[in-house]
Amino acid sequence: MGGMERLLPTDDAYELLGLAAEIADGELAPRAADFEARGEFPREVVRTLGRAGLLGLPYPEEHGGAAQPYEVYLQVIEVLASRWLAVAEAVSVHTLSCYPVYAHGGEQLRKLLPDMLGGELLGAYCLSEPQGGSDAAALTTRASRDGDSFMVTGTKAWITHAGQADFYNIFCRTGGPGAHGISCLLADAATPGILPQASEKTMGLRSSPVAQIVFDDARIPADRLVGELGDGFKIAMEALDSGRLGIAACAVGLAQAALDYAVGYARERSQFGKSILEFQGLRFMLADAATGIAAARALTLAAARLRDAGRPYSAEAAKAKLFATDMAMRVTTDAVQVLGGYGYVQDHPVERYMREAKVLQIVEGTNQIQRLVISRHL
Ligand SMILES: Cc1cc2nc3c(=O)[nH]c(=O)nc-3n(C[C@H](O)[C@H](O)[C@H](O)COP(=O)(O)OP(=O)(O)OC[C@H]3O[C@@H](n4cnc5c(N)ncnc54)[C@H](O)[C@@H]3O)c2cc1C
Repeated sequence: MGGMERLLPTDDAYELLGLAAEIADGELAPRAADFEARGEFPREVVRTLGRAGLLGLPYPEEHGGAAQPYEVYLQVIEVLASRWLAVAEAVSVHTLSCYPVYAHGGEQLRKLLPDMLGGELLGAYCLSEPQGGSDAAALTTRASRDGDSFMVTGTKAWITHAGQADFYNIFCRTGGPGAHGISCLLADAATPGILPQASEKTMGLRSSPVAQIVFDDARIPADRLVGELGDGFKIAMEALDSGRLGIAACAVGLAQAALDYAVGYARERSQFGKSILEFQGLRFMLADAATGIAAARALTLAAARLRDAGRPYSAEAAKAKLFATDMAMRVTTDAVQVLGGYGYVQDHPVERYMREAKVLQIVEGTNQIQRLVISRHL
């Protein structure tokens, strides 16, 4: 990738990155364009990643994870994203979806972790609703106690892996208005009354299913409560701090793919009797792209190292997500420009990269919301 040298903390990590690159080249790259064109979710590819141990990287070995530091996990995400963003995003969303049970689940719930982290079970994270995503504390999906169960009623929106996931983290209202009235439930996807709707027709990332989920009196056993009653919003925000770093790593990988493709193309393409790579106007655009990618990677890994050290990293994660995804939007747009008309057609992957970059500025808190988080820490 662009002649970049990685500094990793252990020999193990170099091996892991090698394995990730092998799978990305062998299993992801050859399938990405076709699956994206058909809008098909590559469940088998995600299973392959699970079997290779890539779905539980940042969690302890005692729960079936690989005990990797976040800085290593994120570089695996980056490598996967450089070959197929939807798969990297699937890993990132799944890792996010395991967080509530890992960090806040009781002993009983944590027994599920080996299957979750081993990739047998795919996860989803249900926070957003049709009437509001940014103002998550205003959510209205309600869970009412009924004997040993909660009865969940309401509608979630934009749920990645809707209809494909085996388990759903549902953030729902068990108390009064505001953040303190929200709890987190872990539901089996097969629960009657959990009704995934038809997938949205998205601009890009079409292999990643995203849909509304209607909860129509879905009965969730009370022992599926994650943490305490009223902890849900705190759990959701903690999970998002980690998840945002995954999205930042996705953006770095996607931008790197766009730059590598643009450089390769520019080298071969001639105008005015010479390679277009000789025109300074283009070379400077590519140099800016390479610099943006390096800066985003550094910011992302700096935040990850704070997390690994057990230090506060919420604002740093928001900065990384904001900077990396804005950078990826610019770099993928410039990659289309480097290819000229050929950048605008589907014979080359850069138009897809550009469509895919857009969603990264929206998910896991829009970039306006990242600015809110950052400014609160000033
Ligand atoms: C492909 C895809 C996958 C997704 N996956 C998931 C998922 O798995 N789980 C999940 O829970 N959600 C998911 N989402 C939802 C996503 O997190 C929300 O779309 C996002 O949080 C924005 O919410 P909204 O769409 O309701 O926009 P709104 O909140 O209505 O925002 C509209 C606009 O207003 C701006 N805005 C809002 N409030 C402020 C403010 N205070 N200051 C400045 N600007 C503001 C926003 O930045 C945005 O530009 C996904 C979305 C997409 C598109």
